[in-house]
Amino acid sequence: MGAPVIESTIRLDQARDPLWDALVVGAGPAGALASRELARSGLRVLLVDRAHFPREKVCGACLGPAAVDALCGAGLGALLDELGAPTLGAISLRFGERRVRLPLRGGRVLSRRALDAALVREAIAAGAEFLGGVRAELDRSADENRTVALHDRESVACARARFVIAADGLSSDLLRSAGVPERAARSSRIGVGAIAPPAEPAVQGVVRTVTMVVDRAGYIGFTPLEDGSLDLAAALDPEAVRAAGGPGALVARAFDRARIRGVSPEALEWRGTPVLTRRPRRPYAERILAIGDAAGYVEPFTGEGIGWALVGARSVAPIVVRALERGDPESAGPAWMRARRRALFSRQLTCRAVALLLRHRRLARAVAVLLERAPWFTEPVVRLGYGRPEGTR
Ligand SMILES: Cc1cc2nc3c(=O)[nH]c(=O)nc-3n(C[C@H](O)[C@H](O)[C@H](O)COP(=O)(O)OP(=O)(O)OC[C@H]3O[C@@H](n4cnc5c(N)ncnc54)[C@H](O)[C@@H]3O)c2cc1C
Repeated sequence: MGAPVIESTIRLDQARDPLWDALVVGAGPAGALASRELARSGLRVLLVDRAHFPREKVCGACLGPAAVDALCGAGLGALLDELGAPTLGAISLRFGERRVRLPLRGGRVLSRRALDAALVREAIAAGAEFLGGVRAELDRSADENRTVALHDRESVACARARFVIAADGLSSDLLRSAGVPERAARSSRIGVGAIAPPAEPAVQGVVRTVTMVVDRAGYIGFTPLEDGSLDLAAALDPEAVRAAGGPGALVARAFDRARIRGVSPEALEWRGTPVLTRRPRRPYAERILAIGDAAGYVEPFTGEGIGWALVGARSVAPIVVRALERGDPESAGPAWMRARRRALFSRQLTCRAVALLLRHRRLARAVAVLLERAPWFTEPVVRLGYGRPEGTR
């Protein structure tokens, strides 16, 4: 039996009345943690999501050191043990039949169903109000507040807030609606993911190892989750997905080439994402601050998006609090852009470099083999490709 749905703490029509200090759109890791931090600072916070929680999300479900550190820094480290998150010990890279195994340290694995729902509960416990099953749409006009239309299946309510936090993920609309253009890389891949039922013994043997198949059309990772089911997530060339007749068929062929048995990709229910590499010109607009994927994302090979989302959530909250205390909302956007750049720029650059390297499979394989043969060299390089943003230790 699945976990019970998290109940909304207010009705839709009750969202109209108060002037919220912060209305947070999107209850993924970025929005849920930001709501918690803002509520703990004494602000009146409304967190909304179009989904009902718990919900699935296309993701590799690996929490790198940055994510683990950010959770511990927020005092939520115990959640990982409470939710039974296994330790992540290694990455097994597959280039066709060639296998390279590299050690990883400091990471955990946790289903997004469990992680995201737990963070929403923490936000509610800290005093944030929560509305699930509600789609938010920004009203373009901005005076001294922002107005957001909240739609459920039957009705709509307009909520007003002094700040809107756009944590609406890759499909983010809020910043665009506020007039901030975005760039998507021309050759960008799309994300797809599926959950396979508890794995057969052959696959269970890779518990605590992420297996990453680097193939012509992209890369596919799979990791056993806390309940034994298998999380599959891939960044794939959209043309190749179309040509293969869907992600299941494409992944099945790649698994075949890599001699991976015990998973039937074609039998799974796949979900997709929009293009992965996209960036708004700036992560803010008037009284709107974008965090997590909504502020820009690069490909997920190094598995850091959750860490970036959590780090961003923790650093945006004091900026909002300060701007409200000083009655100076204009300062928040530029301050947030500087803080985000300081924390994430070098990690996102490394991630981009790795994504670029992976487009050259032969070169990537040569580097991986070199790493395997030179263990003294492996540790610093893996740390570089799997590291921590500034200020999270
Ligand atoms: C294939 C793939 C594999 C990945 N693997 C990893 C990994 O192993 N480790 C890792 O750290 N990261 C990984 N990532 C990245 C990670 O999934 C994201 O970076 C992370 O989810 C970002 O969190 P977020 O809170 O910004 O957005 P999300 O988790 O996407 O949450 C956004 C929320 O906003 C809601 N929403 C959107 N629009 C609206 C609206 N208009 N109104 C109301 N609600 C709205 C959505 O329902 C959603 O719940 C992977 C990504 C992909 C695509």
